[in-house]
Amino acid sequence: MRTHTCGDLRISDLGKEVCLQGWVRFSRDHGGVAFIDLADRYGITQIVFDPEASSDVNSSELEEVMKTFTRESVVMVKGVVRNRVEGTEDARNPTGEIEVLIKEAELLNKSALPPMEVGDQKEGVLPGEDIRMKYRYLDLRRSEMIHAMEFRSKFMHLARQYLESQNFLEIETPILGRSTPEGARDFIVPSRIHPGSFYALTQSPQLYKQMLMIASMDRYFQVARCFRDEDSRKDRQPEFTQLDMEMSFVDMKDIQDMIEGLVAYIWKGLYGEDLKTPFMRVPYEVAMEKYGSDKPDMRFGLELTTLTDVVKDAPYEIFQKIISKGGIITGINIKKEYTVNQEIGRNEVDRYINYVKKIGMGGLTWMRAKDGTLDSNIVKYFTPEIIEDLKVKMDVQDGDLLFLLAGPKKATLEGAGTLRKKIAEDLGLIPADVHQFLWLVDCPMFEIDPASGKRDSFHHPFVLPDENYEGGSSFDLVLDGNELGSGSLRIHKPEVQRKVFELLGMSEEKMETDFGFFLDALSYGAPPHGGIALGIDRFVTILLGKDTIRDTIAFPKNKMGQSNLDSSPAKVEDSKLDELQIMSMAIDDLDFEDIE
Ligand code: ASP
Repeated sequence: MRTHTCGDLRISDLGKEVCLQGWVRFSRDHGGVAFIDLADRYGITQIVFDPEASSDVNSSELEEVMKTFTRESVVMVKGVVRNRVEGTEDARNPTGEIEVLIKEAELLNKSALPPMEVGDQKEGVLPGEDIRMKYRYLDLRRSEMIHAMEFRSKFMHLARQYLESQNFLEIETPILGRSTPEGARDFIVPSRIHPGSFYALTQSPQLYKQMLMIASMDRYFQVARCFRDEDSRKDRQPEFTQLDMEMSFVDMKDIQDMIEGLVAYIWKGLYGEDLKTPFMRVPYEVAMEKYGSDKPDMRFGLELTTLTDVVKDAPYEIFQKIISKGGIITGINIKKEYTVNQEIGRNEVDRYINYVKKIGMGGLTWMRAKDGTLDSNIVKYFTPEIIEDLKVKMDVQDGDLLFLLAGPKKATLEGAGTLRKKIAEDLGLIPADVHQFLWLVDCPMFEIDPASGKRDSFHHPFVLPDENYEGGSSFDLVLDGNELGSGSLRIHKPEVQRKVFELLGMSEEKMETDFGFFLDALSYGAPPHGGIALGIDRFVTILLGKDTIRDTIAFPKNKMGQSNLDSSPAKVEDSKLDELQIMSMAIDDLDFEDIE
């Protein structure tokens, strides 16, 4: 119905008769001459009502119609493209040199008074997230959100293009399935036809994609919605999207090469630039020791140094105790040059001490390098040799500030990694416009859950182990300190799969009930295979420089897993539950006599 969108018209269109449709973003009246910013996904065009300039129209009629053009109403206008008055051009807007002199107008649908500002003209007018989510369709009208949706859509198109060029098949797998152990809780869906039986919403297509390899599909991908019922952790969604892939007859490098090709293709499509490949490979142990993280951000220094050996003979009781229990001491050197703009005085040090306690660490020991030695209340326990050794290991110069953390290995390294990041943020050491991809490699097959002492999969139980069942074949793609996804080679022999289940403490019986079908499938000529899944929400969020994945998902849930828009999750009618033979009651409502 329209001749152009609100982002189309340019100076080359002068004199054209056009018809535009869109939303009234903003209107203003300058003594008889009225202006409207007409907006749609593509842009904003200035519409002008100027009775003196349009002798051929019925101005009073038009004026009446335009009075109905309230904010965010949808309207149609017809008119002629003309130059803006000299000096009123808007260089920031691609349509900013022209305006449309209105001749005909129609209100297509009047908007109620919008509960939030949609335009970008004013800063700081965004309401709280609950309002934005409740009226998400208005929030999505904002150009920033439109850009996020366009960017994400382009990202996915490029991914599909590349994967298709590499012979991948896009295949959909069930959402209603049996649970796969990706380590989270399942969302359970009751079956009406089979009362007492339940589907699980798939946490990932892991087993299906492996069975597609057994089915000779060779190369598979899917833009897969995954469901995990996790406690509301920072920036997680109960449903999220993975670019899920699997390939047959590959080794780890084949999978990594394919992903590097994919990411470089997407990069070129988005930014027109060549991305440097191959990505750096960082062994898991190194990542933990130097960065205190299995997703290290290596765009800045502040590396950790393990000091256990250096201080092990110092008669300092706290360290002695920790070392005797197998713990470690690690340190961060905040070099003098990092603090030229922002000194870390006694108050800030205290703040960091409180910070480490808040994140669950016992405390923090600190020292300043001064006059060629170290100044701190624990230095008295250190021999000159220890001090010298510390200085060499941590590359200490006068003016540097050292933080030492001690405790059980993994928790202490992770705590130090979190502290490292906090210091870097505080001191502005993280470059904003630099992106860095890397592969985390040489991951273990299992880890011991410190709480239960139980052996757990490091990734999942389908990862191909080495011959000792210690090392795994899994690897993570990391971008700027965020995990984008994990991949691995898979077990393709049923006896190896059984052995891994057994090492995880699974009984024969459970193996059969939960994974019998899969063990069966592995026994019919499963090829060697492997794959990976990339978290699209996070990937796009990082590239857009946003703080939360909620800003790149059209209709996200809030931090508590609720939708402010449709108020889900919600109660359902009793009749629906009856049909499912399900009884639902909050503990408070329980009538124990009834139950008896
Ligand atoms: N299924 C795994 C996950 O969701 C990814 C993979 O191993 O392909 O993390």
